[in-house]
Amino acid sequence: MTVLIAGAGIAGLSLALTCQQIGVPFKIFEAVPALKPLGVGINLQPNAVRELFDLGLEADLEDIAVATQEYGFFTKHGLRIWTEPRGKWAGYNWPQYSIHRGALQMLLYDKLMQRAGPQCLETGWRAVGFENSAEGPLLHLVDSGDGTRRTERGSLIVGADGIHSALRAQLEPNEGEPIWGGAVLWRATSQAKPFRTGASMALIGHATQRLVAYPISKPDPETGLVTMNWIAELTYDPDAGWNKEDWNREADIGDFYPAFKDWAFDWIDIPALIKSAEKVFEYPMVDRDPIARWTEGAVTLMGDAAHATYPVGSNGASQAIVDARKLGRAMLDHGVTSSALEAYEAEVLPATRNIVLTNRGSGPDAVLQMIEDRCGGTFDRIEDVASHEELAAHAEKYKKIAGFSIEALNALPRTIPEGARA
Ligand SMILES: Cc1cc2nc3c(=O)[nH]c(=O)nc-3n(C[C@H](O)[C@H](O)[C@H](O)COP(=O)(O)OP(=O)(O)OC[C@H]3O[C@@H](n4cnc5c(N)ncnc54)[C@H](O)[C@@H]3O)c2cc1C
Repeated sequence: MTVLIAGAGIAGLSLALTCQQIGVPFKIFEAVPALKPLGVGINLQPNAVRELFDLGLEADLEDIAVATQEYGFFTKHGLRIWTEPRGKWAGYNWPQYSIHRGALQMLLYDKLMQRAGPQCLETGWRAVGFENSAEGPLLHLVDSGDGTRRTERGSLIVGADGIHSALRAQLEPNEGEPIWGGAVLWRATSQAKPFRTGASMALIGHATQRLVAYPISKPDPETGLVTMNWIAELTYDPDAGWNKEDWNREADIGDFYPAFKDWAFDWIDIPALIKSAEKVFEYPMVDRDPIARWTEGAVTLMGDAAHATYPVGSNGASQAIVDARKLGRAMLDHGVTSSALEAYEAEVLPATRNIVLTNRGSGPDAVLQMIEDRCGGTFDRIEDVASHEELAAHAEKYKKIAGFSIEALNALPRTIPEGARA
C-alpha cells in the first residue's frame, strides 16, 4: 500500500525522497500541470541542510546555493546593530544555504525522477478531500484541466498542499482564509555588488519598514556581480485590506520605492537595488493560527499546510524538510500506520506552534524595533544603546525556539539512520 502525498512543493518532494530512501511506496499528486522553478530566494537552516545531505544532495547543493557566512541587523541609517557568523562559520557541522526556491524545488524533483522514476508523480491533479475507511484512507482528486474526478486508496495520506491546503480545510472547516497582519512584502532579485563578507544576509530598518538582502548566487567571474535576493516590507493598517496572497503576483516598484529612496549606504545601495530588479512580486505577509491537531486517522498534514508562518527567521522551507524527515523516522519506528502519524504530530506540532507565534511578534528581527525605539536608528556606538550580552541573548533565544541551537543540533543523532528501511 502506498503513501499518497498531495502537493509537490518543498515538503511533498522531501517526503517522497525520504520514502524512497527508506523503502516506503509513495505517490505524489500535484495540482499544477507542470512544475516550474517559481519563487525567489529562501534560506535553509543547518537543521534542514543536514537532512538534505543525509538524502545525498550535498554536492548538488554546493553547486546551486550560497553558503551564508554572516547574518546581521542594521538600522534604517545603515548602522550595524548586531552581526553573527552562520552555518559552519558559527560552528555548525552543516552550512546555512541561501538558495532560489525554484532551483531547490527542481533539484528535489530531478533527484526524485532519477531515483524513483516518473510514475511516482502525477501533475494536474488537485486533492479536494479525504475519507478514512476501514480498508485504508481515500484521497479524492480533481483533474485541474477538465474537472474529471477520481479517488485513490493509500496506506496513509499526507497533505503537503501548501498554505491553501484543501486537506486542512476539511480538518478545520471553519478556519477560512490565511490571516494578514498588515505587512506587505515586495520580493525580487537584482544583479548587484556583494556586500560585507560577500555571503552576508542583512536585515535593515525596523518593524514597519524593513529590507532584507542576501546573495543567492556566487559572483559572476567577469563582472563580480551576484544575484541579490531582496525583500522590501512596509506595514499598513490590517483592517484596510490588501490583495489576496499569491506568490506570483507582479507589482510596480512605485508602490514602495519612495519609502526606500534615501536608503543608500556605503555598503549597500538599496534604491539602486530596487530600480535594477527584473520583476518584483508582491505578497501580503500572512500566516495561520496554530491548530490543536493535524492528524485524523490515517491522514496528516505537513509543511505550510500544517503550520504556515510568516516568512521571517528562514523557517518555511527548513521546517518543511524537517517535517518530512521526522515523518520518515516515525514510519521507521511505528510502521506505515496511523500510529506513525500520531508520533510525528506529537513531536512536530508543539515546536512549530511556538515558531508561528514567535514569528508574529518577537521573531529574530524584533531587535530592529527595540533599537529604533531606543534611539531612532542613530548612534555613535551600539554599546550605548544595547549591551553585547543583551543582543547575544536575543539571538540565542530564537535559535532555541526554531531548533537550531549549535550544540544541540551538532549532538543530535541522524533523524534517519544510515541504511534504515521501513
Ligand atoms: C509558486 C510558489 C512560490 C513561492 N515562493 C516563495 C518565495 O519566494 N519565498 C518564500 O519564502 N516562500 C515561497 N513559497 C513558499 C515556500 O515554498 C513554502 O513556505 C515552504 O517551502 C514550505 O513548502 P510546502 O511544500 O509546505 O508549500 P509550497 O512550497 O507552497 O508547496 C505546496 C505545493 O502543493 C501544491 N498544491 C496546492 N494545493 C494542492 C492541492 N489541493 N492538491 C495538490 N497539490 C496542491 C502547490 O502547487 C505546490 O506545489 C512559494 C510557494 C509557491 C507554491
